[in-house]
Amino acid sequence: MRIPPPTSRYSLTSGISLRECGKTEREAAQLELLRRHLELAGTSEFYREKFQQVGLVPSQLRSLAELHKLPLTERADLNRGHGCFFPAADLTATDLALTSGTTGNAVTVPYTSNDLERLAYNEMIAFFRIGIKPGQRVLLCVTLDRCFIAGLAYYTGLVRLGATAIRSGAGSPSRQWELIRTLNPSVIVGVPTFLWQLAQWGLEHGLDPTRAGIETLVTIGEPIRKADLTLTPLGEMLEKGWGAKTYGSYGATELETAFVECPATAGGHVHPELMLVEIIDETGTPVPDGQPGEVVVTPLGVEGLPLVRFRTGDVARLYPEPCSCGWQTPRLGPIEGRLAQRLKCRGTTLYPENIFQAIDEIPGIAAYYVEARAHFSLADEITVVVGGDEAVEPAAIQERLQAKLRVKPEVIKRSPAEVVAVIEKGSGRKMKRFFDFRKVE
Ligand SMILES: [Zn+2]
Repeated sequence: MRIPPPTSRYSLTSGISLRECGKTEREAAQLELLRRHLELAGTSEFYREKFQQVGLVPSQLRSLAELHKLPLTERADLNRGHGCFFPAADLTATDLALTSGTTGNAVTVPYTSNDLERLAYNEMIAFFRIGIKPGQRVLLCVTLDRCFIAGLAYYTGLVRLGATAIRSGAGSPSRQWELIRTLNPSVIVGVPTFLWQLAQWGLEHGLDPTRAGIETLVTIGEPIRKADLTLTPLGEMLEKGWGAKTYGSYGATELETAFVECPATAGGHVHPELMLVEIIDETGTPVPDGQPGEVVVTPLGVEGLPLVRFRTGDVARLYPEPCSCGWQTPRLGPIEGRLAQRLKCRGTTLYPENIFQAIDEIPGIAAYYVEARAHFSLADEITVVVGGDEAVEPAAIQERLQAKLRVKPEVIKRSPAEVVAVIEKGSGRKMKRFFDFRKVE
């Protein structure tokens, strides 16, 4: 396939054909995009050195598999000196985004105008895939300012698709409901826990979410599906609570790329012209298809901060077989946890997300958080703090969690208000439900 120039490369028509063609044709197109990407990345101080060490000449790259020879890029590399990652080209940053800095400090990510167009295209094709139509009204309950990129990505993607964006921003259930009632959106984009709170707020104020005209929810920031691709308890609550088809998405500011599920809801499709995705084990070796490992992304075509083999620290699986939706591109399963948050428990791999999902299945718990502490034995000490009504019995919760997780955490009960105060304290973009008091290595 001949590679079109960037402006037409990011068109819906050529994008769809790249997703419907076979693997050979798609990978030939990706190889050319990878060569160009490596050429630009190779002008930065960081990659010039790295490429020299392995003797890489981007123009001589013969296959996508050669990507594995290149070194991985860690988030810590970016924190140490991200200026070393800027290409030695005369590029102007049109927007400066900041990573959320949940692990380590926030990093500045400069977006050129092409990067912003690339990002808009990413979201346009994702919204297109889940059936959003031109003129359809979409309520954006996500942060659009504070140097946050995801909200801007959704907004520009919707505008490019021809849909109608309602830039409500995060928080304030009363404002969101006012907009739902007066502007009649049929789609909401937001964080799962907030969308659930929004449904509850409606019910408490005599507004039935299932009759609000919302057909689709697009969620961000927290997984709504388990490793087996079925909905998490929260995902199920959202679908039932709103009577709306619910899609999960995944992205990170450094990736300048996001995945959104298709109607088959069997993982988020990889955008072939925007990224190469690998799943690796702890030694850096690719894991077999369908097995969990760390997600490593090379975001093709990025100009401002062109990363190569960026380690996300997130764990998921890749499904390479063609999808029942008709697209041939691989899909990334839901995020199963963060490597840095993996809990040491004898004989079982456990992430905070597994505990969250198990708690979500227990009725009567209004709010909760999880703490991990290092213990003299090899296993971590896990404490679950729950807030709930009188019927909530710590011993019963502990028993249920043990049955589900094969791990027996300590369970403490506090008032719902106390628990909410902890998870919302210093609230940034996400509510904090996991507190890690283990020594960071
Ligand atoms: Zn699909």
